[in-house]
Amino acid sequence: MTQMNTNYLKLQGSYLFSTIGKKVAAYKEHHPEKKLISLGIGDVSQPLVPAVIEALHKAVDEMGQQSTFRGYGPEQGYAFLREAVAKHDYQDHQIGINPDEIFISDGAKSDVANFQELFSADTKVALQDPVYPVYLDTNVMAGRTETFSNGRFGGIVYLPCLEENHFVPQIPKEHVDIIYLCSPNNPTGTAMTREQLAVWVEYALEHKSILLYDSAYEAYITQADVVHSIYEIPGAEKVAVEFRSFSKTAGFTGTRCAYTVVPKSVRVVDPEGGKHNLHSLWLRRQTTKFNGVPYIVQRAAEAVYSPLGQTQIRQVIAGYLQNAHTILLALEKAGLTAYGGENAPYIWLKTPHGLASWDLFDRLLEEVQVVGTPGVGFGTHGEGFFRLTAFNTPEQTKEAAQRIAMLKF
Ligand code: PLP
Repeated sequence: MTQMNTNYLKLQGSYLFSTIGKKVAAYKEHHPEKKLISLGIGDVSQPLVPAVIEALHKAVDEMGQQSTFRGYGPEQGYAFLREAVAKHDYQDHQIGINPDEIFISDGAKSDVANFQELFSADTKVALQDPVYPVYLDTNVMAGRTETFSNGRFGGIVYLPCLEENHFVPQIPKEHVDIIYLCSPNNPTGTAMTREQLAVWVEYALEHKSILLYDSAYEAYITQADVVHSIYEIPGAEKVAVEFRSFSKTAGFTGTRCAYTVVPKSVRVVDPEGGKHNLHSLWLRRQTTKFNGVPYIVQRAAEAVYSPLGQTQIRQVIAGYLQNAHTILLALEKAGLTAYGGENAPYIWLKTPHGLASWDLFDRLLEEVQVVGTPGVGFGTHGEGFFRLTAFNTPEQTKEAAQRIAMLKF
């Protein structure tokens, strides 16, 4: 029989969301009269904005006309969208990123998952704990990890993000080749300041490492000292790849569009010491394995940058941030400590009296019928924390907040 890739056997089953699902289903069965509210979802609740819908309709009509029909497009994305991204997200902010350094894709998830294949099998990987699980699991699949014990894979350098260090990853003692950084962060909802990020850029320049910077929640940044792009930090263009997405910025979770910036100045080395552009490798990877994002979706993403599109998406984001504020106030009323929610749609709640994350899950479900996500599901250092999201509707969020505010611990 055909042999399997045994690295898949090493994957720690993501029981998190299935366990939550089972607990919620069991509760509903025993209490059919109770109304549950989920603050656990990582998906948006608001529809696409009118400017995007209009662009979609127009592009659909073009696809039905002989003269404007499009078949396969460029794998890296149409020039109109790459130019719009380069101008609005970089050049207008005095960042020298060019359209040909931007790769349009169907999601930040696939890009952060696929990017690791450009590096050798013995590349030393560092990632935050707690963490968005895709970074770890894709390195497990690629065979970069050793045995798993006590919640940790050998071969991976974990960067603890704790209350003591304000959830900011600290420079590791050993050398690492690639470092996944996520800011604003899922799940902690906190964001690294310019100064904190500059430390990592300096590390990468000194150690000839590469930073894989996931900024899927960039649009939620409100604080002035939090950078919107890693390329605002001098030298980052030599060591950093940036991932961004239209998912949480413009409600594209079901429409699928994102982009990755690979500056031409980022270099990797072969075993003989020859230098190569990471950009050329990614271009080769994408043109071989990916056939581009639908034309109609790219036109929809382009509309996000129109003045009307910007006004409309900013309103939606402001609504989610208002939800986050509502949740934070309720937690404060209940006497609970919480982080995040100011530059991200996530709130990282500290469990009271050292309760385990799953125990808090049970109490919230049973006492106030609010569903969240136990922090331990995102890594060992997520224990003792609980993630709430701001993506539900304002009505549901207010109702959940009122219930939480009544909790007594
Ligand atoms: N990166 C982070 C940190 C996320 O939280 C998510 C989605 O939850 C993604 C990437 C995936 O984004 P996309 O919808 O573009 O694949």
